[in-house]
Amino acid sequence: MSVAWVTEMSPGTEKRRAAATCGSCGEIGIVRVWEDGTIQPVGQSSFCGCSTPRIQLLET
Ligand SMILES: [Zn+2]
Repeated sequence: MSVAWVTEMSPGTEKRRAAATCGSCGEIGIVRVWEDGTIQPVGQSSFCGCSTPRIQLLET
């Protein structure tokens, strides 16, 4: 008898991390990019101080 243990820690699928900038205030930070296109700040609840950040990925 075999048992397959699910060891994945994250509820979603993190695609990659990328540098990004806010087009409104110029803040630069690291974000997670999810497979569905969601961009989420890493290590903080909001990317910058803007109420509606215009986050743009910085392709390297
Ligand atoms: Zn901003």
